[in-house]
Amino acid sequence: MNCKQLYMLRRCYSTAEHLKSIGSSKHLDYDIIISGGGMIGSSLACTLSRAPMLQNQKILLIEGAPKKNWKLSNNYSNRVSALNPSTKKLLESVDVWNHIKAARFKPVKQMKVWGSGSVAAVEFDISGNVSSDCIAYIVENDVLLSAIDKELDKSKDKITVIHGSKVKSYQLPTERNQPVTLVMEDGHTYSCSLLLGTDGANSKVRETMGVEYVKWSYGQHAIVANLELQEVSTNDTAWQRFLTTGPVALLPLNNEFSSLVWSTTIDNSKELLKMSDEEFVHALNTALMEPPQKNSLIDVTSYITNIVFKNQYIPRPSGVIPPQIKSVQSGSRAAFPLGFGHSTSYVKPSVALLGDAAHRVHPLAGQGVNLGFGDIECLTRVLSKAVTNGHVINSFSTLKDYEKERLRHNVPTMIAIDLMNKVYSNSNSLLMALGDAAIQLANCLPPVKTLMIKQASS
Ligand SMILES: Cc1cc2nc3c(=O)[nH]c(=O)nc-3n(C[C@H](O)[C@H](O)[C@H](O)COP(=O)(O)OP(=O)(O)OC[C@H]3O[C@@H](n4cnc5c(N)ncnc54)[C@H](O)[C@@H]3O)c2cc1C
Repeated sequence: MNCKQLYMLRRCYSTAEHLKSIGSSKHLDYDIIISGGGMIGSSLACTLSRAPMLQNQKILLIEGAPKKNWKLSNNYSNRVSALNPSTKKLLESVDVWNHIKAARFKPVKQMKVWGSGSVAAVEFDISGNVSSDCIAYIVENDVLLSAIDKELDKSKDKITVIHGSKVKSYQLPTERNQPVTLVMEDGHTYSCSLLLGTDGANSKVRETMGVEYVKWSYGQHAIVANLELQEVSTNDTAWQRFLTTGPVALLPLNNEFSSLVWSTTIDNSKELLKMSDEEFVHALNTALMEPPQKNSLIDVTSYITNIVFKNQYIPRPSGVIPPQIKSVQSGSRAAFPLGFGHSTSYVKPSVALLGDAAHRVHPLAGQGVNLGFGDIECLTRVLSKAVTNGHVINSFSTLKDYEKERLRHNVPTMIAIDLMNKVYSNSNSLLMALGDAAIQLANCLPPVKTLMIKQASS
């Protein structure tokens, strides 16, 4: 039997299994429904529609917000994401990256991270074992969404997209042969064998699943804005300073502009939003440039680190010198509440969660949406493998495989990010000293740096 015959046989078996599992008398509207068309839901729709083994699946993507007729303008959007090399690879595999390339993005070749307690900094660059020419790629969320839309438009025969229509409620199967039913706010209903919840941090899909969700607020808001730099340069470094109130980060957009993500206390964020543009720029330059606070514990840890790593550690007396900000783009300031959230299970029979619906992290490591892209890659792979092996698309053991693999990756990453925020967004001298020692150690030990970049890139 040749490969094609084997494939056809498996497809027949799979279809028979499918009909058996949902009851052959019941007609389903779709095989797969993706609820939530943000960056993760839309990319998932695109990836599933391109997977060779999933070509026979009838897919519906539902997004509550109306379709944006977005056009590239001279002004950058204030919402950007630092995409890691694995995410770029996934987007390349479905031709989305071509559209991003044709629009705009900025590669990041270096990253400098430092604290508020000393001049010590950890510097990451593209040397070492990293299999990419960049640490990350800064892409506006709108550029990404519009690039995905362009590819989804090409797959209209395989995938139906509904915009501006919200799901009111979900009925999940209580017995093996039942379908999933979605009731829309406009009264329509849809049925499917597999529901994929990509409806964000306040996911209704997750709520309906009744899974345990661990969450807390950081008591911080992230201020985003577009910044004009004092000096024109290649601007390919991402900068992040940990202040006791939260991290402030500059992500390059082009030679003249950077994007700001300034996480700070809620009270401070309100003050920062109220300020005039000039006052805001002054406050930001102070936050970035202010000399380190005197902390004798940090002096001790620096001294010890210097002795232990005297051959590797080269102190830089001037400290880190981030770019000076010239102005803030008028009207570009906005604030977003920050929190942690994790669903202890990502799957239930006939349903799986991806992206922020499953996990929400602090933006300090630029990992939130990248974790979601990792979910997409994993789910597409395990579903394809299941269909190849003749399983039904909603096989629970397949969904469990997805959950197991992603929990193994996501949980340690989320814990590390949470710990970083707890240690650094703090005015406790001991924690500040520990944090500073960690920065110095990481900078002294190239394998630690490589490990950190590897985890952040995958
Ligand atoms: C300030 C800030 C900076 C960030 N920077 C980075 C970064 O640099 N790198 C990074 O990796 N991550 C970053 N993140 C995180 C990233 O933005 C999120 O992880 C990402 O937006 C999650 O995408 P999502 O598609 O899972 O969820 P969402 O973007 O929340 O999308 C969910 C979608 O579901 C739709 N929806 C919800 N309910 C319904 C319903 N009932 N019916 C129909 N549709 C529904 C919504 O309309 C929405 O479009 C940042 C976050 C913040 C706040």
